[in-house]
Amino acid sequence: MTSATTSTNQAVTFTELGLIPPLLARLTELEYHQPTPIQAQALPSILKGRDLIAGANTGSGKTATFALPLLQEVFSQQNGKKPARADKGNFVSKLILVPTRELAKQVADSIKSYAVHFNGAIKTVAVFGGVSVNTQMQALRGGTDILVATPGRLLDLISSNAIKLDKVQSLVLDEADRMLSLGFTEEISQLLALLPKQKQTLLFSATFPEQVQSLTQSLLNDPVEIQLQSSDASTLVQRVFTVNQGEKTAVVAHLIMKNQWRQALIFVNAKHHCEHLAEKLAKRGISAAVFHGDKGQSERTRVLDGFKSGDIDVLIATDIAARGLDIEKLPVVINFNLPRSPSDYMHRIGRSGRAGEVGLAISLIDHEDYHHFKIIEKKNKIRLEREQIEGFEVDEAAIEELVKASKPMAAPEGTGKKKRKKKAAKAHDGVNADIWLGCSKPD
Ligand code: AMP
Repeated sequence: MTSATTSTNQAVTFTELGLIPPLLARLTELEYHQPTPIQAQALPSILKGRDLIAGANTGSGKTATFALPLLQEVFSQQNGKKPARADKGNFVSKLILVPTRELAKQVADSIKSYAVHFNGAIKTVAVFGGVSVNTQMQALRGGTDILVATPGRLLDLISSNAIKLDKVQSLVLDEADRMLSLGFTEEISQLLALLPKQKQTLLFSATFPEQVQSLTQSLLNDPVEIQLQSSDASTLVQRVFTVNQGEKTAVVAHLIMKNQWRQALIFVNAKHHCEHLAEKLAKRGISAAVFHGDKGQSERTRVLDGFKSGDIDVLIATDIAARGLDIEKLPVVINFNLPRSPSDYMHRIGRSGRAGEVGLAISLIDHEDYHHFKIIEKKNKIRLEREQIEGFEVDEAAIEELVKASKPMAAPEGTGKKKRKKKAAKAHDGVNADIWLGCSKPD
């Protein structure tokens, strides 16, 4: 493995990185004045066709890092012309796999936006569950240059011969640690078996737990490795407040009203908690929308679009909203419940403080959360001061007693999921429990 040596502070332009004029023109329009560190480091290697494993903070410009070189490659292969689609069969050239429907749409939209000056020469399609498969089959007719997909829907489309993977030249796993975790193991192995051996593979994620790293090695061929996570460079402030048990709703309502946040994204751990908390906030005069996997796709899209556009001020979501979603200038993320996986903590808080904007991540912990938050801190190599909120003070001595008496949080019980996961873990050597504990398949 080669480690990239470019300094993260090195001033380099997109032109110097070797991008072609139609992309440069678009980046100027988008006011991307300078490559972000991950772009500066990764673009040259990707353009050379190297495999790559990249870890960079969420919101650091990862989508453009893989989208720009892939677009450039397709455009160059086509000599800048729109190919006759019939020649393409139902093949795909560049495949990007993502864990959630919303991320599939977001990534495809970004790629289409970067490609506006290619005058329709490059076809990009997004496929994901929860919407009509027929429309997607139609969109795939004649093949596609770039396909952004969630694994389950892609397998459905392959089994109905709507798309073939034999000619994939580049594979991107966005949110790679999630894609390689147990929730997706079976689907990803099926897809990998259908891909040509000879291809470029690019893995991106904000977090790469150690044991996934060993798993990734089997997927990559002499990869370039780039690790850019840096808490120093972060524009995101993390705070943790100790609260009395049963007071979290009151605290959230208080914080939202007092700070008059333009928007707030609140994470809870179960779908029904979303509705429950929304009802309780409504009683306190705060109107909130909910976002989770039991909602129909049109509702999910409506709510997310409303939140992104600022029509919805408060969104209560499960971890399906934790990954990759780009909500411009989101001022605050609140962990009402702590995520079970320490990696998910990083993904959740990464919804705020993106692209150099100032952001805030708040975690509310009562005595039952104490042990678990310590684990989150340890795994993520952070240490945060426990703070109190005026008007909601806790009795520290009493809390300490309660903490001593309480046990570390266990995985949820009664769904049979734990047993299934244990079984799968055996069959899947090397995957860290940290990654799969409590991760339900989001799509
Ligand atoms: P991502 O990490 O890909 O989700 O990107 C986070 C945000 O950064 C998105 O809103 C991008 O449009 C924006 N972005 C990506 N690259 C750049 C850049 N070089 N300059 C300014 N903004 C960027």
